[in-house]
Amino acid sequence: MLRVSEPILGAEERSALVDVIDSGWITMGPRVEAFEAAFARAHDASNAIAVNSCTSGLHLSLAALGIGPGDEVLVPSLTFVATANSILYTGATPVFVDIASLDTPLLCAADAAAKVTPRTKAVLLVHFAGYVLDREVWAAFAREHDLILIEDAAHAAGVRSAGTFGAAAIFSFYGNKNMTTAEGGMILVADESLAERMRRLRAHGLTSTGYERMAVRASTYDVPMLGFNYRMDELRAALGLVQLRSLFDWNEKRRRLTQAYHEILQAQGDTVVVPFAREFGARGVESSYHILPVLLPPDAPRPAVMRRMIDDEIQTTIHYPPCHHLSFYEQTLPGTLLPKTEEFGRRELTLPLYPGMTIDDVERVCVSLQGAVHYARHEA
Ligand SMILES: *Cc1c(COP(=O)(O)O)cnc(C)c1O
Repeated sequence: MLRVSEPILGAEERSALVDVIDSGWITMGPRVEAFEAAFARAHDASNAIAVNSCTSGLHLSLAALGIGPGDEVLVPSLTFVATANSILYTGATPVFVDIASLDTPLLCAADAAAKVTPRTKAVLLVHFAGYVLDREVWAAFAREHDLILIEDAAHAAGVRSAGTFGAAAIFSFYGNKNMTTAEGGMILVADESLAERMRRLRAHGLTSTGYERMAVRASTYDVPMLGFNYRMDELRAALGLVQLRSLFDWNEKRRRLTQAYHEILQAQGDTVVVPFAREFGARGVESSYHILPVLLPPDAPRPAVMRRMIDDEIQTTIHYPPCHHLSFYEQTLPGTLLPKTEEFGRRELTLPLYPGMTIDDVERVCVSLQGAVHYARHEA
């Protein structure tokens, strides 16, 4: 079975984990610090804060930036539910914004502008599929409306322009992301005092960590703020340090596989629409090529296409069922209408893409897809 995504884990990861166990210190300590420094360096950032997931990093960032009850945060509905959930955790309200188009399924600035109210405090951008939004457009938008910019960069590890938009950017190291620590996340933040506050909030609001107290033989601590337990551990940091060394090579492999997909699918004619065709390879557009989304023809039922491809031993998934149509959000924020997001969510199919794949695998997927679409249209 060709899976949609597959991590690369090997001997180096195994020995890094053994080293941590042999060291006798497995909670947040020197490896977490080293991983933060290495991740910041790789992204030309000044401060990095490791956390136990991207979701906790999103919550921590919103909380540290003072977003809370009564505030509204603009956010795409075409994202993983964690993006919107993190806003609700603070007591603020997510306001869902449509995508620009089916070809460029990134947040629409015009729709965002139409949804600004006196309560709007921030925009939570998502670099969907790894394609980084237009920094100038969103910086100008934030200035004009006096809003905080935050990036959900879960898809965009290894893209240098991710993390340079605004107050904070949060990355994910979940098992299906471009690099993994099994579970884990990282916050990049430019402002030194905000970074310091986030470090405290990550560990219960304590004025010092256990490792720091051991180092300076301090006996006690204070808690000046309400914090969380969003710490990363040494085992995950050790995995992250190893994975980070391959990240840029892996992203380059993803780029080549994406190019092969675009060429083969375009040569097939009207089997599917390929989003980001204009962005791919365009000057000034950066991507981590996290996933390969396509849009099925409206008359090709998706379940039939997916079943047919499973018969060919090819797994596909959906990115994403729009958040505003999930039953929790229909109850919490009823009446949201986002026509482009809804059409994208109805027709989208995610094809396998990971650095261990070959160009032959890409061809096999495209041939299977063409057959499956034909079958779903005419015979299903
Ligand atoms: C994976 C993902 C998250 C959540 O990341 P975790 O590390 O699993 O908490 C958030 N947003 C997006 C867009 C994601 O893809």
